[in-house]
Formats: sequence, C-alpha cells, structure tokens
Amino acid sequence: MHTLIFATNNQNKVNEIQSLVGEDFKIIPLKAAGIDIDIPEPHATLQENAAEKANTIFSLTQQNCFSEDTGLEIESLQGAPGVNSARYAGEDRDFQANIDKVLLNLAGTKNRNAQFRTVICLIWKDATHGLQTHYFEGICKGQIATEMHGDKGFGYDPIFIPDGATKSFAQMSMDEKNKYSHRQKAVTQLFEFLRSK
Ligand code: IMP
Repeated sequence: MHTLIFATNNQNKVNEIQSLVGEDFKIIPLKAAGIDIDIPEPHATLQENAAEKANTIFSLTQQNCFSEDTGLEIESLQGAPGVNSARYAGEDRDFQANIDKVLLNLAGTKNRNAQFRTVICLIWKDATHGLQTHYFEGICKGQIATEMHGDKGFGYDPIFIPDGATKSFAQMSMDEKNKYSHRQKAVTQLFEFLRSK
C-alpha cells in the first residue's frame, strides 16, 4: 500500500477522497502526519494555491504528497467566488455567510450557471524519475439553486445542483455526490496516474 500526505485540514475532503481510492492508497491528512500549520492560499489561481500547499508540505516532510484547491465559479458573477470561495464573505470562512452572499448576489438573476473546479497538485519523487510536479483538474457543471436544500456535505453543497441531477449535493450521500463531483474527477486522474507508476 502507498501512503500519500494530503495537504489539507479539511476532514470532509479526506473522507471523500479516501472513499474514492479504496485500499490501494492510504491518505494521511496533515494532522495525522503531525503537521500543525494552516498553509496560506495567497494566489490568484487555484493552480498556484495548490502548488503552494504541496510544495510547503514536501519541503517539510520530503514525502510524496498532494494538495487540492477548489473554487465555485458562477457565470453571472464573472467567475466569483472562484479562488476566494472559502473567504467569500470574510476571513472566518463561514459556510452559511458565504452561501447567503451568493444567494443575495444572484437575487433576481436568471442565469444561475456555475461550476466547481478542482485543481490537484502532486509532488512525487521516485528513484527512476526524480522529483516531479503534476496537475490534475476536475470540473462539475451545474446550477445555483434559489434556496438551500439538504444538510449533508459542506461549503456550498446546499445550493449547488449538478447537471443531470434534480437535487443539491447536500441532499446526496457521499457516493452519490462522488458520481458527479469535480473532486472525484480530479482524484480519478490522480490515482490513474499513480497506479501507472
Ligand atoms: P478550498 O480552498 O479548496 O478548501 O475550498 C474553498 C471553498 O470552496 C471551501 O471552503 C468550500 O466553501 C468550497 N468547496 C470546496 N469544495 C466544495 C464541495 O465539494 N462542495 C461545496 N463547497 C466546496
């Protein structure tokens, strides 16, 4: 079994990803790796933030690791909240306040097209190829609902209805969400790559 450090403190993301990869890989979140830091996300793109997180953890541990950065991109808000999704309504990263701000900004707006986009950055070192950096992207297109539905999941899940579904992410089990999810698409590519190693 391979072990990989996942540069996150978000247990929801760890659970989602571990449920996707099964038993071939053991995903170790920062806390379990004994790392107690909150890595800054200061950049203007998901890719740069993902790279910052993975590079920080690799320099600390010298172990293979990956990070991911996700944003909700809303068409009629010119791609906002995007890279600022966690802090859209303020520094305290309050899920409810973020949702309220989206719903307010979209009040009366017909175009509710949106997508979640995940970028994964993998830092991988092996004897054959040395140190490598790889990126994987997953997109889930959908609609922003006019009100909240469901109480599962996290973040913007209660107001996001993926294309092809009639309910929000927050009304789905984890397995159901994984059939549509941006993170699932990026993670699938990551683990296809790792299995080829
Ligand atoms: P992060 O910076 O990648 O942790 O994610 C930024 C923010 O996007 C999170 O704080 C959540 O509000 C939101 N987010 C990320 N992934 C999801 C998801 O799968 N569902 C709902 N919201 C999400």
